[in-house]
Amino acid sequence: MSGIQIIDHKCIGCGACVEVCPYDAIDLEDKLASINDKCTICGACIESCPFDAIILSKETFGAAKIEDYSGICVYAEHREGVMSSVVKEIIGVSRKLKEALDKPIYAILLGDKVKPLAEELLEYGVDEVWMREDPGLGDFAEDVLAEVLADVLREMKPEIFLGGGTIMGRSLLPRVAVKLKTGLTADCTELNIDDETKLLRQTRPAFGGNIMATILTKMHRPQMATVRHKVMKEAEKVADPTGKIINLDHINVPEPQIEVLEFVKEETETVNLAEADFIVSAGRGIQDPKNIGLVAKLAKAVDGALGASRAVVDAGWIPYSHQVGQTGKTVNPTIYIACGISGAIQHLAGMKSSDIIIAINRDQDAPIFDVADYGIVGDLFEVIPEMLKQIGE
Ligand SMILES: Cc1cc2nc3c(=O)[nH]c(=O)nc-3n(C[C@H](O)[C@H](O)[C@H](O)COP(=O)(O)OP(=O)(O)OC[C@H]3O[C@@H](n4cnc5c(N)ncnc54)[C@H](O)[C@@H]3O)c2cc1C
Ligand code: SF4
Ligand code: SF4
Repeated sequence: MSGIQIIDHKCIGCGACVEVCPYDAIDLEDKLASINDKCTICGACIESCPFDAIILSKETFGAAKIEDYSGICVYAEHREGVMSSVVKEIIGVSRKLKEALDKPIYAILLGDKVKPLAEELLEYGVDEVWMREDPGLGDFAEDVLAEVLADVLREMKPEIFLGGGTIMGRSLLPRVAVKLKTGLTADCTELNIDDETKLLRQTRPAFGGNIMATILTKMHRPQMATVRHKVMKEAEKVADPTGKIINLDHINVPEPQIEVLEFVKEETETVNLAEADFIVSAGRGIQDPKNIGLVAKLAKAVDGALGASRAVVDAGWIPYSHQVGQTGKTVNPTIYIACGISGAIQHLAGMKSSDIIIAINRDQDAPIFDVADYGIVGDLFEVIPEMLKQIGE
C-alpha cells in the first residue's frame, strides 16, 4: 500500500497535486483526489496541496522516526587490507558536513581482522568506527555485506550514509538502500547541507552531464549517496585523534547465498587510471583493435596509463576498466592525451579536470579541441609515431 494518503474531508478537488505528480499517480474523480499504484512515494505532491490534504502515512518508517537518526556515516571500503582512497575523500567531505550539522562522523568497517584499518580511520578524524569482524566478511560476498550493513544502519541510525562510487560501492549500496527502503543518489560530485532544512544536498550530473541535479531525501533515512572517486579532496590526518572503536559483535553474519569461486584480477587492472599522473587514451579514431598497441606504446613511453573512450570499450577492443567518462572512471592526471577522441560531453565529464589536455584529432572542429590546452590537428597514425620518435630521442 502506498505511504501517501489523501485526507478525503480536506480535499476540495482543486487538482494542484495532479499537475505536480511526475508519475501520473493521482486520479481526480468527483472532486476528490486518490492515489493509484503508480505512486513511488516521491513526496512531491505533499507540499503542493494548499489544503494539507496529502500526508505520508507513518508505516513507511515503521517504528523509527526521522528525528531518531543522527550523524554522518561513511562506508569504509577496503580490499586486501588496504583502505580504498575514496574513503579518505568521503571523510574529507564529511568533515565539512559535520561543521554544518554539528554532528559526529561514524564509519562502518566490516571484514576479517580489520582492526588496523579501524585505527587508520580514527587518524582521519572519524569519531566512532562501528566495526564487525568475522571471517564470513572476508571475501567480497555482496549479499552478506549488504545484510550486515543494513542491520548496522537500522541499529545505529545515522541520518546520512555515504559510500564510494566505486565498482564495489555501486553494487553494494543500492542493495542496502532497497533493504532500508530509502533513496540513493549515485555518483555525487558535490555534497553539502541545506542551511534551512539541514537536509543533505546531493548533487550529480544529469541528462548526459548537461545539467547538475540536486536531490534531497526528505522523507526517508538514512539519506544515502555514493561519491564519485577523485572529485572530492582527501581528508588530512588530524593532529590528535580522539575517536573510538565500537565492536558490533552481536550483529549476525548470515550464510552467503553467493559463492565466490575465484577472484580473477584483470591483468590491465594493475594500471590504476584513477591514480595515474599521465594518461594516454584511445578513441574510435584508432579504427581497429590492433591499433590499440600504438596508443599503448605512447602510454608506456611516458610511463603513463592507458585510457579509452566508451566507443572503444563498447566495440570490445579494450576492457571496461580503461573507460574514462561519465559511466567510466573520473581522472585528473597532470597530462591527458586524447588520441582520436571526438570529445563527447560524457567523455569530457571524466577527464576535463586534467591539468593539461593534449588532443590529437584529424577533424579541426572536433569538440575535444574546446577543452584542449594543446591541439594537434592531424592523423594519429602519423602523429603518434612522430611523438614516439621524439620521446625516444
Ligand atoms: C549515458 C551515456 C553515457 C556515456 N558514457 C561515456 C563515457 O563514460 N565515456 C565515453 O568516452 N563516452 C561515453 N558515452 C558515449 C559518448 O557519447 C560518445 O559516443 C563517445 O565518447 C565517442 O567516443 P569517441 O570519441 O572515441 O568516438 P567518435 O565520437 O566516433 O570520435 C572519433 C574521433 O576520432 C577522430 N579520428 C578518426 N580517425 C582519426 C585519425 N586517423 N587520426 C586522428 N583522429 C581521427 C574523428 O575525427 C572523431 O573526432 C556515453 C554516452 C551516453 C549516452
Ligand atoms: S508521492 Fe509522488 S508519485 Fe506519489 S502521488 Fe505524490 S507526487 Fe505522485
Ligand atoms: S491539491 Fe489537495 S485539495 Fe487539491 S486535489 Fe490534491 S489533495 Fe485535493
